[in-house]
Amino acid sequence: MNLRTGQGIDFHQLENGLSLWLGGILIPSGKGCVAHSDGDVLLHAICDALLGAAGLPDIGYHFPDTSIEYKNIDSKILLERTYRYIKEYGFSIVNIDSTVILEKPKILTFVPEMKSVISAILEIYPEDISIKATTTEKMGFIGSEEGIAAIASVLIQK
Ligand SMILES: [Zn+2]
Repeated sequence: MNLRTGQGIDFHQLENGLSLWLGGILIPSGKGCVAHSDGDVLLHAICDALLGAAGLPDIGYHFPDTSIEYKNIDSKILLERTYRYIKEYGFSIVNIDSTVILEKPKILTFVPEMKSVISAILEIYPEDISIKATTTEKMGFIGSEEGIAAIASVLIQK
C-alpha cells in the first residue's frame, strides 16, 4: 500500500461585518475573512494538505486568486475539485487532523456539522476527521482578532 502524508496551513485577515465561513459552514461572528473566495481557512488548509500529500502544486496554483472564476467561490467547491484531482491519481483519504487557531468565537459546538459537511465531500466518515481549536492566548495578530489560521495534516493511500 502506498501511504503518503501532507500538511497545509492557511491564514486570512478578519474584518468586521464579513461572514465567517469555517469548515464549510457559516459561523455566527462579528468578524469574517477578507478573501478572494469565501475565505474558509480550514478548507483551504485541508486542500493544501491533500494536494501536498499527492505531490501536486498548491491551492493558489490550482485556484488562482486573480481569476474571476474563483471570486467569492464557496470553498466546498474548491475542496470537491481538490479531491477529484487526487482521486484521478488513484488516492483515497485515510484521515484528516486539523486545528483552527482563532481568538473567538468558540467553535466546538459547530465541529460536528463541519465534520459532516467535509466527510460528505471527501467520501470518508466523520470519525476520520479531527477538527481542534486553540487560541494564541491573546498574543499577536490572531490574539488581537486581526486574523485567523488553520493547519491540517492528512494521510492518503493508493
Ligand atoms: Zn485561504
